[in-house]
Amino acid sequence: MTNIFSHQPLITPWDGDNCQPCHRHFYHQPGGKLSFPPEVEEQWEVIVVGAGLSGLTSAYHLKERRVLVLEAGKVPGGVCRQGSFRGLAYPAGSAYFYYLGDPSWEAWYQGLGLPLADSLIAKPVSALFYEGRWYPDCFSKPGLRTLPLSRKAINGLVNLADNLAAWEEVWDPMGSDSLPNPELDQISLAHFLENERELPPQVTSILTPYCRSCLGAGPDAVSAWAGLFFLMSEFSEKARTAAFPGGNAMIAQALAQSLNPPVRCGQTVVRLEPTPHGVNLLVWDRLDNRGYRLQARAVILALGKFAARHILPSDAGWNLEIFGRFRYSGYVVAALCGHISLESPGYENWVVGDENFSDFLISPRNPRGNGPRVMTVFAPQPFALSREALLRIKPEDKAKKLLAAVESNFPGTAREVEEIHLYRFGHAQIVPYPAFLTAVKGNIAQARGRIVLANSDLEGLPCIEAAIVQGQKAARQIEAIFAG
Ligand SMILES: Cc1cc2nc3c(=O)[nH]c(=O)nc-3n(C[C@H](O)[C@H](O)[C@H](O)COP(=O)(O)OP(=O)(O)OC[C@H]3O[C@@H](n4cnc5c(N)ncnc54)[C@H](O)[C@@H]3O)c2cc1C
Repeated sequence: MTNIFSHQPLITPWDGDNCQPCHRHFYHQPGGKLSFPPEVEEQWEVIVVGAGLSGLTSAYHLKERRVLVLEAGKVPGGVCRQGSFRGLAYPAGSAYFYYLGDPSWEAWYQGLGLPLADSLIAKPVSALFYEGRWYPDCFSKPGLRTLPLSRKAINGLVNLADNLAAWEEVWDPMGSDSLPNPELDQISLAHFLENERELPPQVTSILTPYCRSCLGAGPDAVSAWAGLFFLMSEFSEKARTAAFPGGNAMIAQALAQSLNPPVRCGQTVVRLEPTPHGVNLLVWDRLDNRGYRLQARAVILALGKFAARHILPSDAGWNLEIFGRFRYSGYVVAALCGHISLESPGYENWVVGDENFSDFLISPRNPRGNGPRVMTVFAPQPFALSREALLRIKPEDKAKKLLAAVESNFPGTAREVEEIHLYRFGHAQIVPYPAFLTAVKGNIAQARGRIVLANSDLEGLPCIEAAIVQGQKAARQIEAIFAG
């Protein structure tokens, strides 16, 4: 590799999710090496396991009850992460969301003290970097017309945008048990574009970074339904994009701050044991290095199914084999910190054709004097790359590879980078592969006895709305359990 550094930037150790506390327990006999005293230490009305957006939302809606949230990681938020460089907050994970002007969502954000109006992103929101050129506002109809594609391809894309705008009026699947147009879930997005719409493969390539970043895999590996549902917001003339400073971590922080008692971090739930009147939880406190036992009248399991299946006993009422059919992507996020002078037309910038990363955003978007800026680079890992492989990658190697990739697309950037902050997420987001939403997601009950499932993966869609909707549904299920 040629030396792209005029100096050696500081490369931080991996941050992000922390699998160690879970792996340590799940891949040994439960309770094997660890000892959990038989006495119950504390009793709660509800215990929420996992302080991602779904778990925090469920606790927020149950605030009137005695609720405890347990989180294995060091901070609440899950993949909603925030980093900081010389006092400048930047998104280090989940960054932005869509706002369709729905008053109930507006009220929800307002209730948290997060005014949506201040967070709306100025246009152009999305820009495409393709073969060395920028295409600003690439998902708007005028933007689509500028893309270096054949007339047939452009007309096909504009037609698709029109169709999605019409579907937007009638598709409201979030939180609902049935999928509109379920036949679209049987095929891949690539198949839909190339066979059903007869668009050239170039269109599929242009949409590849978008799919890899937002849906965890390329257009050939995600369901057409899921891909179109996401693209609907991009192509929409109604939807606005919103982001808080530091990204969606700010929503997680607002939710966490509303809770009393605060989220208990560093606490890994290892096992649930349903009892006739509630649920016992075996918890490993990695700060004090000891196991203990809690009891709750009901439990919300707000972690991914990849972990839930290790925690649930086989007689809890779910067929745990089906949890094994959930697929997750891995993700690396690199914050390139320094006096970054790169100008990019979009808030969200998609880079076509580079396997190392898919997109980036810059905080603040416009340079302010000579102040620091952070380029957050999103590097979804090749789908199906095992988590073990991600765990083996050395931070220095990944940082250098990513910096070289950024430099080859945007020459001159590397020498401005003073620090590289690295984050990795092993099971970053659910991959809605073809038929997953119709065959798997729909067959899982949200509640069994006094255990309720949350997490965005139950919605089958990797976005914060899915996590919030699942958290709200879980809170309603708890009320129904207590009422019944
Ligand atoms: C890099 C990245 C960027 C993204 N960008 C966006 C975006 O811009 N916009 C958008 O809408 N969506 C985005 N997403 C997706 C979206 O943010 C997520 O789908 C959503 O936040 C997930 O929330 P969750 O609560 O379902 O799960 P998670 O955030 O995964 O939360 C699960 C929590 O459970 C905890 N946990 C796990 N096991 C245990 C245990 N045994 N005991 C206790 N706690 C445990 C975990 O530590 C974690 O905190 C992004 C995702 C990633 C990875």
